[in-house]
Amino acid sequence: STTRRPLMAGNWKMNLNHLEANLLVQKLAASLNEKQLTEVETVVLPPFTDLRTVQTAVDGDKLLIGYGAQDLSPYQSGAYTGDIAGPMLAKLGCTYVVVGHSERRQYHHEDDALVNAKVAAALANGLTPILCIGEGLEIREQLRHVPHCCDQLDGALKGLTPEQVTKVVVAYEPVWAIGTGKTATPDDAQEVCGEVRKRLVETFGQDTADQVRILYGGSVKSSNVAAIMAQPDVDGALVGGASLDAEEFAQICRFP
Ligand code: PEP
Repeated sequence: STTRRPLMAGNWKMNLNHLEANLLVQKLAASLNEKQLTEVETVVLPPFTDLRTVQTAVDGDKLLIGYGAQDLSPYQSGAYTGDIAGPMLAKLGCTYVVVGHSERRQYHHEDDALVNAKVAAALANGLTPILCIGEGLEIREQLRHVPHCCDQLDGALKGLTPEQVTKVVVAYEPVWAIGTGKTATPDDAQEVCGEVRKRLVETFGQDTADQVRILYGGSVKSSNVAAIMAQPDVDGALVGGASLDAEEFAQICRFP
């Protein structure tokens, strides 16, 4: 069986200015040793305005921490006021970019077609998309969460080759668990992550599906991360609130 390196990604959302970002990255790096940072891939996802500062901190001190953005434009450049393009992120040393976060689907009306274009734009620029999918409470109560998430997955990966899909990270984030303190149970997380991998097998083949890392996101903390990570199809976590505290996020990265 394929071994997938665990990935812990901290989504800072719209928090921290560039000075605070520098402080948090330094503290995080100081809290983890080389072995820990090698075993568990540790990534931060700051606001755009912090990326240059994070790049300087990581490069200057050769920190074993990856970083990326929280969104990107589907276009390469042009008259798109306020947007940020893939080549700009790649030039700043980003390796990851979040695509289709539920907050962007909700507040910026991003649909699966746009998410699909953004995934393609990320890959075209050598960035690893962290593709977010997940159901709201109403869909969960109707027990339609699995087909809902698989539909979002199909839509976002449409037209990609198996080779491209191996480079995608999928994050299952039930919307009812984001920022609410209500974590999905480890079984709930495994149910959807397992079905996502099955769908990847059906569409892109076993070899490809085995290589894709699938994260769980939604109120992950140091106290619940180990049980979630013990699930066979959960390969990491996308962490919001708890990633803003260096010691707490380091503790999450130390889960094994
Ligand atoms: C997120 O928004 O990606 C997230 C998982 O947030 P939180 O950990 O705060 O629930």
